[in-house]
Amino acid sequence: MEIYLDANATTPVLPQAKAAAIQAMVEDYGNPSSIHSTGLKARALIDGVRARAQRLLDTGAGQLLFVSGATEGIQTAVLSALHALRARREAGQAIGSQLLYGATEHKAVPEALKHWNAVLGLNLAIRAIPVDTQGRHDLEFLQREAPEAGLVCTMAANNETGVISDLTGIEAALNASGSSAFWMVDGVQALGKLVLRLSQSRIDYAPFSGHKLYAPKGIGLLYVRAGAPFTPLMAGGGQEGALRSGTENMSGIAALGAVLEALEDKEGKTFRSHAEMSGFRTRLAAALEQAFPGLVYNAPLVQSLPTTLNFSVPGLSSRLLQDLFDAADVRVSGGSACSAAKAAPSFVLQAMGLPDWQAAGAVRLSIGPAVDEAFITEACARIEACGESLRRNCMSPSDNLPTVGQGVSRFMLEGACCYVLADAAVQRCVLIDPQPEQVSRLAQVLRCQNYPVTAVLSSDGAAAHGEARALLAAELPDLLAASAEVDALGWPLTQTELELGAKRLRRQLLEGGGQALLLSEGGQGQACCLAFVAPQHAQALGEQIGAQTLIAPPSDEAQLLASNVALERGEAVAAPLLQLSGTQLQQFVDAHPDALLIDVREPYEQFLSQTPELAGVALQAMPLSRFLNAIPGWLAEQRPLLFFCRSGNRSRQAAQALARLGHSQAWTLSGGLALLPDAPVRAAAADPALLV
Ligand code: PLP
Repeated sequence: MEIYLDANATTPVLPQAKAAAIQAMVEDYGNPSSIHSTGLKARALIDGVRARAQRLLDTGAGQLLFVSGATEGIQTAVLSALHALRARREAGQAIGSQLLYGATEHKAVPEALKHWNAVLGLNLAIRAIPVDTQGRHDLEFLQREAPEAGLVCTMAANNETGVISDLTGIEAALNASGSSAFWMVDGVQALGKLVLRLSQSRIDYAPFSGHKLYAPKGIGLLYVRAGAPFTPLMAGGGQEGALRSGTENMSGIAALGAVLEALEDKEGKTFRSHAEMSGFRTRLAAALEQAFPGLVYNAPLVQSLPTTLNFSVPGLSSRLLQDLFDAADVRVSGGSACSAAKAAPSFVLQAMGLPDWQAAGAVRLSIGPAVDEAFITEACARIEACGESLRRNCMSPSDNLPTVGQGVSRFMLEGACCYVLADAAVQRCVLIDPQPEQVSRLAQVLRCQNYPVTAVLSSDGAAAHGEARALLAAELPDLLAASAEVDALGWPLTQTELELGAKRLRRQLLEGGGQALLLSEGGQGQACCLAFVAPQHAQALGEQIGAQTLIAPPSDEAQLLASNVALERGEAVAAPLLQLSGTQLQQFVDAHPDALLIDVREPYEQFLSQTPELAGVALQAMPLSRFLNAIPGWLAEQRPLLFFCRSGNRSRQAAQALARLGHSQAWTLSGGLALLPDAPVRAAAADPALLV
């Protein structure tokens, strides 16, 4: 079962809202502009929903229009205010020189300001009102600047942090400044969570969005104070008193009406009170703090919506945390805009002046007011399982369990590869090409396996590798001797080869600097089975390596994972990549009873979610970070391989790599487990070695 903790992004539709929408679509489908009975019924429905919304928001004599959502409401408000400002300026009146918006406002606000300012040719300066480290507006700035402002935009509560604005303070600052600026308040995240008495304030415009409170997408509200200027965004058939033309979204309005009815029913069972929501948040916060020691909140909880938690964990990226939660079937969101490669820091947290690591590593967890006790209990259990998974896989900020290091593991940093070679029998390891930025993660891994480090080698003599070596020696004096006599490439001066249990590591110096590191199985004179070298140098190694010897590159921007000499010489032809969709899975398994299904997700994800249940199929867990260990065996066997992961990205990379190396039956599960119907999830701790 999915645990959806991303209510600030959107919410599911309440059952009664769905029923009301269907009723409006199927039974009461009239056009409210029609004067026959079917139309009158629709008109009555609209009037009833509007009246309810007017009561809930205390709109007094103000207008409340149905629009498509908050973005439309914001456009309409900004257009109305700016159009009025232009008219005043044309009439020779002073309108100020600037438009102000809160620095943490939803993008729709500054973008709408820019757009309409340009379209209307106003050319006013558009300036952000700074916020403090708690996300609250700088009221002194506002009071000082408001006299020069034509429009001021401040949200009621922030979507990323949940920080509740001091609307009373903002109003007081506006009044004290003597400003006649229009004032828009984005009420999207406040609806259903905070009490708003719109007619009691000088707020001119307030947009709201249905899909943030259990109504469908495509319906919203715009409040316009009585007497505030108005310019329709849409002209046409004259609906909504000619303020917003276009046939009304009746199913959306009906659904929103059902939500508002539940909200108005104080004795009702649908929505939780503020105190209940605060209690839920306290429980979620306790689970988070237990799962992620050292966690910091990015906004003070006392000043935030009781439905939002925004936090960062030292040493864990936003992306990693999101993948971890997703593996546990818990949906959260990054507090920042994530591109596939790199998380961009959240502009909201940056505006609050939070350190870069916090702004780039933020995770937002948000619940809607309709959640119940059982849901919160399950959410807490899943969060705790996430913490357990980190501890078992040596990724927790503290209290990690010991791990066994064996074989080759790869650690990536922006395309550069660092390898750790470990042997459990002799309990020793060797590092190749570590970067200083990876030191704390590597130290954590080495500490968990607790093997002395035989050498920290550099394939090209880069200063960064030596720097990482010194940092590691300082951090792990008991595992790595700072004083060891090594050359500029990190190779121990007295050794010709390094023993790692049954394996040996030799090297060959390369013309022009650097070294190729050749790992072989068994005693002296054995052929190399894995070469750590840049592919372009592989040919220069001559007899040292065979055409099929696997090459582990020092950088892998193209995500090829591995290569071999034959490929580099252009002598080998890659096999085609084969793709399979989730619906074809059973069919594939029936047709290929000898197939091996390979889960390439990382162990911390595998621990949290089960693999699809497919009777009689052989499964193997082989995370991409440990892929090199398995490639020779798979190539030798040539049985059908089906790689899978969460979204299909990593499994595609894996299958592509195998196909390139000549495997003729390397398949990827397109769309990954995410698109399989009902991918099962485990909430409680279990043995991570679940797969054959
Ligand atoms: N304002 C805030 C604070 C929001 O959170 C959102 C939605 O993310 C919007 C505006 C835009 O709302 P809509 O999706 O209804 O256009």
